[in-house]
Amino acid sequence: MVGYTKMEYNMTQHSIKYLASFALLVSCFSFGIKAQNNTDTSNQLSNKEKQIIAIAAHAAQGNIPKLHTALNNGLDAGLSIGEEKEMLIQLYAYTGFPRSLNALTELMAVLAKRKNAEIKDATGETSSPFPSNKTLLQIGTDNQAQLTGRKIGGGVYEFAPVMDQYLKEHLFGAIFGRDILDWKTREMVTIAALSSMEGVEPQLRSHFGVGMHNGLTQDQLSELVTIIEKEVDTKRGEIARQILQSVIDQKPYKADVIPYEPIFEMGQKTSNDNFTGTIYHEPLIKADTANQVSIGNVTFEPGARTNWHYHPGGQVLLVTNGKGRYQELGQAVREIQKGDVIKCEPNIPHWHGAAPNTAMTHIAIGMNQHKGAVVWLLPVTDTEYNAIQER
Ligand code: MN
Repeated sequence: MVGYTKMEYNMTQHSIKYLASFALLVSCFSFGIKAQNNTDTSNQLSNKEKQIIAIAAHAAQGNIPKLHTALNNGLDAGLSIGEEKEMLIQLYAYTGFPRSLNALTELMAVLAKRKNAEIKDATGETSSPFPSNKTLLQIGTDNQAQLTGRKIGGGVYEFAPVMDQYLKEHLFGAIFGRDILDWKTREMVTIAALSSMEGVEPQLRSHFGVGMHNGLTQDQLSELVTIIEKEVDTKRGEIARQILQSVIDQKPYKADVIPYEPIFEMGQKTSNDNFTGTIYHEPLIKADTANQVSIGNVTFEPGARTNWHYHPGGQVLLVTNGKGRYQELGQAVREIQKGDVIKCEPNIPHWHGAAPNTAMTHIAIGMNQHKGAVVWLLPVTDTEYNAIQER
């Protein structure tokens, strides 16, 4: 078609891609554990380690009653007060101050109860002093390189250099420089927390890799994921398992195409020039002279979307599963999800598709078919697709 240029499509797109980059940055930085401290050759998690994972996961989810139990179990398993405190402090870099502070407050409550019950818990070691001849920035820079096995820079670190500085000085220096927990343990804490959180899949993926680099075995990570699945959050655990598998297989991570029991047939797998990525289409009702409406069931794989297009007779979309994105020309990109109803006015260019890591299914109702078939326009670029702030 037909009068619209690519420039016009872009007209109101103001990129929020930087936000996504910020999120990535936290992850890239947070890998970590001192490999040299890894003296445990057993391929199974110890009871202490299982409790560490439960504590980190419940703290990350903000599930205080379950955290209470996990903190108790951890102390019973022989974790010191200082070790539990240290992992909750570390978590603030991944979960934010509110979750971390709530978790520390809960630890205080747990300890008060145990004191009343005359249970004696080990206080634990204090951190060794930091080298006096090095700045925190130097310590953190060294730790980061050792932990990740590579130099990290460019991209978002160039865009926001102060974040690079904070991560080195603070996360890798001030936090990872404290030897109350070794790096393998710290990495377990981080992986358990990220496995329990939504929307940090790229970070989780990085940390699985760095965890292995620092001595966590595939079996141990699989056991960690099982704890998440069984004790914390089944859905998050399933996603974490897919991500772990993608790291083991050295393949890019894609969420399940069919993460649910479909209502209608998925239909035929389709990929052609009118779409980016792969979709499935099942025609349900064909328009005829008595009924000028056509209805189809469409499923988009994660990241897949239509080209820009418009419908001379208009269209209604009923989202039946997953999460996706929708945009009309000149409007912001919207996140859409199961239960949403979208009315596409006649002749207004728009696109629809899945979210980056989640498939989306909608029933597409083509109205007033006698006014003409869909008119396909340009593909939706990655920049256009990503110009969204997740809600
Ligand atoms: Mn449409």
